[in-house]
Amino acid sequence: MEPKKFTAVFFKDKYFWTLDIDKSISEIYLNKLAESTTVDNNLVSTLTLRSFIPFLSIQFSVDQTRSWFNRIQRTKGRISSNSYLYCPNCLKTDEIPYMRKEWRIYLFTTCIHCKCLLEDSCPHCKSPIQHFNHNSNQLDKTFDYIRFCAVCKNDLTTVHPRIVETSQLNNQKFIYDLIYQGFDNQFNYSHLFFEGLYQMYCSLLTPQNEGMKKFLDSKFSDAENAFHLKKIIDIPLDKRAILINQCVELTRNWPINLLEFCKENKIKYFELIRRKREYPYWYFSELRKNLFVGNPTKRTENKKI
Ligand SMILES: [Zn+2]
Ligand SMILES: [Zn+2]
Repeated sequence: MEPKKFTAVFFKDKYFWTLDIDKSISEIYLNKLAESTTVDNNLVSTLTLRSFIPFLSIQFSVDQTRSWFNRIQRTKGRISSNSYLYCPNCLKTDEIPYMRKEWRIYLFTTCIHCKCLLEDSCPHCKSPIQHFNHNSNQLDKTFDYIRFCAVCKNDLTTVHPRIVETSQLNNQKFIYDLIYQGFDNQFNYSHLFFEGLYQMYCSLLTPQNEGMKKFLDSKFSDAENAFHLKKIIDIPLDKRAILINQCVELTRNWPINLLEFCKENKIKYFELIRRKREYPYWYFSELRKNLFVGNPTKRTENKKI
């Protein structure tokens, strides 16, 4: 049965696909799904993104705007961004092709198994990936339709995989381990690490950050279009991959890499902690300590304290 038809009949909810259902599925829907498929409740739950939520941030459940998850469908009935990602090599070699949970996380831009960049659109017609729009002509018993574009019906796996550099691969592996283990030796709980990383990423990319603007302009020829007027979630995949890699690099050798990066690009430390947010201690304490090192002004110091 077509995904849309199935959910309409089964859940009697025409707005089902306007939500990121794998992230925000209700208990009622979860139970209904488990019951009808005779699969254990807990197992169905682990197939959703729920298991990642406490590892990514303690605040995701209450604040949707700071989610590390890509949003499948941003507005009712319309896909406004390319946010469902896939690895062409994985889908090609899967006995039964399926979408991995981690591909739904904003931080994942790379397949750590195939060492290539994920893809976020059909290589033939450039449409966003939208499996829930497949129609019955394509759905067969093998579930192979996951390999095909719902719009032009072409094979998504024919695109040549874009192999990534070793540092990017290692940083993605680091994130992968954190997501699945929930902790590491330096930052303790993973959500504390991701919270700091999120703040750093957002602060560096705020339109007011002149130092970072210059850095982006020097690195990307189309930075003006790609970053300065965009929401974080809309940053194109290839650039996002580079920036997330950069931010994880900045957490290495903590806090030396970050402080040096700021000095090199004339980014003031207070730029990184001025978002009126609660910051994790590992992140805030080092920036706070270094805030007035260099060439501070008295006025700024008083204001910040
Ligand atoms: Zn892969
Ligand atoms: Zn297509």
